[in-house]
Amino acid sequence: MKKISINYLYIEVTRKCTMKCNHCLRGDSQNISLNVNDINELFTNNEFQITNINNVIITGGEPTLNYIVILQIIKQIISKNIIIENFNLQTNGSIYNQQLIDGLNEFYNYLKLHNEKPNLHLICSQDQFHRPPKKEILDKYKKLPYFISNYVYLSENQIIRVGKAQENNLGNKESNYETYLYFDLYKHNNYPVILSDNDDNILINELYLSSKGLYSFHIIDVPFKEIDELCIYNNQQMSDMINNYSKLQKDKIKRKQ
Ligand code: SF4
Repeated sequence: MKKISINYLYIEVTRKCTMKCNHCLRGDSQNISLNVNDINELFTNNEFQITNINNVIITGGEPTLNYIVILQIIKQIISKNIIIENFNLQTNGSIYNQQLIDGLNEFYNYLKLHNEKPNLHLICSQDQFHRPPKKEILDKYKKLPYFISNYVYLSENQIIRVGKAQENNLGNKESNYETYLYFDLYKHNNYPVILSDNDDNILINELYLSSKGLYSFHIIDVPFKEIDELCIYNNQQMSDMINNYSKLQKDKIKRKQ
């Protein structure tokens, strides 16, 4: 079985949210979430086995609303002994869920086996657009060794003018132009970027799993509507693409020799 490493893996666990921020680049929230089977399919794949991930980013919506799926991601990583360099979970701080925290604590201990200072981060977004988190929730989070929270006043240059930000004329126009330039590029070249391919070890650059259980080989900050235009492959198609592009790359190398 092929072994796969991934440089950046984004898992959009839900499109539900507890806030309606004026600068939200995803646009309006949607009642759509990943389920446990989608996660099992990714980590227990007939074609390949994930062995390393440099960066796991859990995104949403508000990810903690789908804590069951986050716990399943953690369970799969631990049971498959996958090496993780960085794991980031961003929350708006409106929810505290003890089951999730217990799972993250267990995960922190697992990561410690590979790295004395594990790069697990639970990050609370605080700025002029997010509703401030409740003090009692923040106080509990602050006790965790992997919690990060800093209030940041976002300047125009730090806001991407897409989704709600575009509707509300926030962020500069260049950020919109640049984002959609890349979006068009990625949409028309939605293939796996294989960074290295030695024997049966393949390193792919980016993989995005949307709340609909569909994949893209590129990651970009765009509204859900555009994410749906990029995330077009089901699990089998995603695996086939990786296998086919790996073969193509090897053929190219052979021809050069
Ligand atoms: S910015 Fe985050 S918290 Fe705010 S509406 Fe968007 S997804 Fe929800």
